[in-house]
Amino acid sequence: MNDRTPNTETPILEGEDLRKTYRLGRVKVPVLHGASVSIKQGEWVAILGASGSGKSTLLHLLAGLDKPDIDSGDIRYRGSKVELQNGGETNHYRNRTIGFVFQFYHLLPELDVLENGMLANLVPRGRKSGLLILVMALIGAVIGAWLGLLAAGDWGLLPLEERTSVRSIVLSGACAVIGSGTMIVLIQMVQAVILRTRMRSGEAADVARSTLGDFGLDQRYRHRPRELSGGERQRVAIARALGSDPDLLLADEPTGNLDEQTGTEILELLKKKHEQGLTIVMVTHDPKVASYANRVVRLKNGRVVADSVQNSVVGEMPSPDEGHETVG
Ligand code: ADP
Ligand code: MG
Repeated sequence: MNDRTPNTETPILEGEDLRKTYRLGRVKVPVLHGASVSIKQGEWVAILGASGSGKSTLLHLLAGLDKPDIDSGDIRYRGSKVELQNGGETNHYRNRTIGFVFQFYHLLPELDVLENGMLANLVPRGRKSGLLILVMALIGAVIGAWLGLLAAGDWGLLPLEERTSVRSIVLSGACAVIGSGTMIVLIQMVQAVILRTRMRSGEAADVARSTLGDFGLDQRYRHRPRELSGGERQRVAIARALGSDPDLLLADEPTGNLDEQTGTEILELLKKKHEQGLTIVMVTHDPKVASYANRVVRLKNGRVVADSVQNSVVGEMPSPDEGHETVG
């Protein structure tokens, strides 16, 4: 379990002076111009801004899905700089510290609801199966070469006296390659079947079943994403994001592709999770959606222009004098 003990001192997540410039060929597209945001444990923060203001870019940087510019400031998790190198620590941050919800769900179409729900837990925890594959490939090569020579002899393609000739070496080499290739494919198929069977009856499946059940999807485990409505897909996506028991949930326009009623259902679900202690950072262009959060950070042209704590009056935007507004 991740530590959810409230700590009001150190922010759980900070982005300081974040800069991001995309490059389209030779054209530079500066998007973030030094945006800073600080999230405390247990908060629900909405990042509110017009389309194109850099909200998704900011959220991707905070989630470690993209890197800020070289001259940019840092991203800190519980006070420590998040080093975005490709490696185990970064993968752990992306997959287990952060749960990420995309506007367009990004479920895997070939997996069913249950498998999508436990996807974060399918990411290997550093165990390497490379050695096993290498050994099996060598065994496959030996068996392939042996069978090849045996068959060639039986079929009269390679008379006994030619068994040490160049022809026999080429033939056994070709059969060794085919043998090792076949073995690699076989071992991977067996591993996939074992993994799938083990996962569906393991702890990750129990966690996913419980979250999906909470979200009213207990009759849908075997369904593919294409058989679900938009609201159901987004519920699966949130269950997937929560599947690894992350410290924070980052959601990019989680209701942006849904009708108002379905969107409200999703927000109510997030509200329930927030009340249970989950820290949420949610990006939206819609003030009504933002009003679910405890704090609204406004982004304009890649800069934070306001940061206001609001009384959580769901469905209504607070009047300017209700919030403590700091313009920066
Ligand atoms: P928002 O989520 O607020 O709508 P984004 O962060 O998605 O804004 O994008 C901000 C700006 O950056 C937009 O003008 C967009 O076209 C541009 N942008 C986003 N991603 C890329 C990219 N990969 N390459 C080039 N430009 C991009
Ligand atoms: Mg966006």
